[in-house]
Amino acid sequence: MKEGNKQILVMGGAGYIGSHTVRHLLDRGYRVVVADNLIYGHREAVDTRAAFEKADLLEPESLKALFEKYVIGAVVHFAAFAYVGESVVKPAKYYRNNVVGTLNLLDAMLEHGVKKIVFSSTCATYGEPRYTPIDEKHAQNPINPYGRSKLMVEQIFSDYERAYGLQYIALRYFNAAGAAEDGSIGEAHDPETHLIPLALQAIAGKRDCIRVFGTDYDTPDGSCIRDYIHVEDLAEAHRLALEKLEDYSGCINLGTGCGTSVLELIHAAEEVCGKSCPVELAERRPGDPARLYANNAAARAILGWQPRHTDIRSILSTARQWEQHRRF
Ligand code: UDP
Repeated sequence: MKEGNKQILVMGGAGYIGSHTVRHLLDRGYRVVVADNLIYGHREAVDTRAAFEKADLLEPESLKALFEKYVIGAVVHFAAFAYVGESVVKPAKYYRNNVVGTLNLLDAMLEHGVKKIVFSSTCATYGEPRYTPIDEKHAQNPINPYGRSKLMVEQIFSDYERAYGLQYIALRYFNAAGAAEDGSIGEAHDPETHLIPLALQAIAGKRDCIRVFGTDYDTPDGSCIRDYIHVEDLAEAHRLALEKLEDYSGCINLGTGCGTSVLELIHAAEEVCGKSCPVELAERRPGDPARLYANNAAARAILGWQPRHTDIRSILSTARQWEQHRRF
């Protein structure tokens, strides 16, 4: 993949996971072009070693221009809307951007002879789990338009592989967490809905409290269990996936394989910060399964990947460093 003049196009490379992947690829000697519409992405998050182009999945001309200007060897596709709650009230926005937008991207790729793509998928494609840890063979019954939009793209890839020889790996992330070890980039959503930044902000006194959504789940402490995976481990998996596209297409889970409950996570954040967290016990959030954690055997076997951050405290301390020194 590194050979010749070819570059990696990172769609959505100004976002949270995208910006960390861009940096990881550059550190490993790849040449990278970042394209982003900057609706949710941050220009400041894009490493200065990468070329940057403003482009939008729903503007096919802007996509074609990328493939005409650069010699692209493969695409890493992060560009998507990803607010589950919003997807329920604005499904058209989600299907248009995430599904139609990806079709536009595939058109531009295939028109220019580019057949390799690594895609951000999600454990939300599984819906309510029938068993845990969740492996890739688990039935996929997403329970919201966001999850369905990602599943549709996975299915499109499979059809395009058969018909057009597309080479793809869809990475089904569990809960992305943490920030670059040097604190220079990290999570910056607006609005912020994720547990870790909200808990750290509550501990720092920037929010009144963290609301724990549900304490009556069938789990040891009654709160939901999730699999928090460090964003730099995710970034590395994207590079490994790029390097594997030649001989593998399919979908792969990315999680640590360990579950942490909401209450355990808040206690760990208190330990890392040395301060207590104001907590309010609240109702369940609709659509939240009790437990979600990954069987990551496929990622280990197929990609040769293994998570480096397996302790939730180490993930939290990178997130905390980012929260304290955020640039954007
Ligand atoms: N959560 C919570 N309070 C919050 C935000 C999230 O209790 O303010 C819980 C949520 O119900 C879920 C877990 O934290 O069980 C992780 O939620 P997050 O939104 O971070 O990620 P998701 O699992 O939705 O992708």
